[in-house]
Amino acid sequence: MRLIFLGPPGAGKGTQARILASRLSARQISTGDILREHRERRTELGKSAEQFMQAGELVPDELIIKMIERELAAAEGFTLDGFPRTVAQAEAFDALLAKNGWNLDAVVLFQADREALLKRLTSRWTNPRTGRTYNALSHPPRTAGIDDDDGGPLVQREDDLPQTVAKRLEVYDAQTKPLIDYYRIKGKLLRVNALQSVDAVSESITEGLRARAAAS
Ligand code: AMP
Repeated sequence: MRLIFLGPPGAGKGTQARILASRLSARQISTGDILREHRERRTELGKSAEQFMQAGELVPDELIIKMIERELAAAEGFTLDGFPRTVAQAEAFDALLAKNGWNLDAVVLFQADREALLKRLTSRWTNPRTGRTYNALSHPPRTAGIDDDDGGPLVQREDDLPQTVAKRLEVYDAQTKPLIDYYRIKGKLLRVNALQSVDAVSESITEGLRARAAAS
């Protein structure tokens, strides 16, 4: 499948993209994870992106679009997690779909209110090596600060600090929210309540996609 997971930061897009990757035959492509990797490797892209990421702002469209074109060179299924985030990115992505003769199956919209997101993001812990995330409140690791999977240390991302989180939510409202209408008009939107348990969200997504496929 070819999917977009759309929604504010902290709504659980990354968690679901990882969980559902094999079930949906759609590998997770997280632009945030790719950018963080570039930043660590000190590539040109990583260095250019760094200041924007630290401030909770968006990295310029032309850098992101080039990066996603490279990532999508292979024709397999994917879930885009964190892209597109602006109308310009969505238009560039439409052109890429057309060029490759690909169909976009659906855009899953993760719905959650601001208070819940603030709470979630400021209690999020990440394994910097694998990108796996935990939540100190709703989904804690077995041992605080340690990844259940590989025993590695968990850290709090600098962009999950309270003042940056508020900025990221503002940026989402101003620049990414218009994409809801963009994809609604195209008939691609599948709305999911992102405040349910992790399992219930996975179930809502797979059920919703099944119902859409059956109806088409
Ligand atoms: P995320 O982990 O998806 O919240 O992304 C972390 C940061 O990477 C964002 O706050 C942006 O600075 C940057 N970023 C990720 N994806 C994009 C995108 N599609 N467009 C612009 N900036 C992005």
